[in-house]
Amino acid sequence: MERLQKVMAHAGVASRRASEKLIEEGRVKVNGTVVKEMGLNVRSSDVISVDNVPITQEQKYYFLLNKPRGVISSSDDPKGRKTVVDFFSGIDHRVYPVGRLDYDTTGVILVTNDGELTNQLTHPSYGVEKTYIAKVEGLINKKAISQLEKGVVIDGYKTQPAKARIIDINPKTKTSLVELVIHEGKNHQVKKMLKAVGYPVEKLNRDKYAFLTAEGLLSGEWRELKHYEVNKLK
Ligand code: URA
Repeated sequence: MERLQKVMAHAGVASRRASEKLIEEGRVKVNGTVVKEMGLNVRSSDVISVDNVPITQEQKYYFLLNKPRGVISSSDDPKGRKTVVDFFSGIDHRVYPVGRLDYDTTGVILVTNDGELTNQLTHPSYGVEKTYIAKVEGLINKKAISQLEKGVVIDGYKTQPAKARIIDINPKTKTSLVELVIHEGKNHQVKKMLKAVGYPVEKLNRDKYAFLTAEGLLSGEWRELKHYEVNKLK
């Protein structure tokens, strides 16, 4: 949902101020009814018209990318490295990643031009569940797992309770595989949490973002979200 005057401005009808004036003048209809109330929230499915001419709302795109290593997740990089947005250069709309994954982290990341959904999903109060699988140095023990679950201090901040479990311990390579489920999104949070309990991360993959997994997507592949998936995220 977005404010009527903002949707009108995005659709190129007029500036936001001038759109407000059109609303005041009674020239704007939503689903056939004149709207004079300022700040009405409209959906992308609502039909908006100005002087009885329907306007076209910007089409929203929602993609799920299985990000490879060596790709940054901001929109552009001063160093010219490949970004997650480069995967969508064939789409004639500017899209942006929802949140961040580190350059060397792999796994699922959402990419969209829906700024409202992005703000919602990345807002700390929303707390989207994110599932990570980390390969760590050392043979992890139960004490470390229970510390991760209770919360550990990183950069002077105590992390919220998380779910953690050991997937595998490999005495030969002296490494372990750990699953960590968090609701927060502090910078390098998983790496910092595991380091704080004594197990530095060698490799990190995000297996799940909310209910979305990379099933059916090879590294570097992406797909469009289904309608019901977009609705479930909202
Ligand atoms: N935590 C990290 O440390 N890195 C990521 O890319 C994501 C979560």
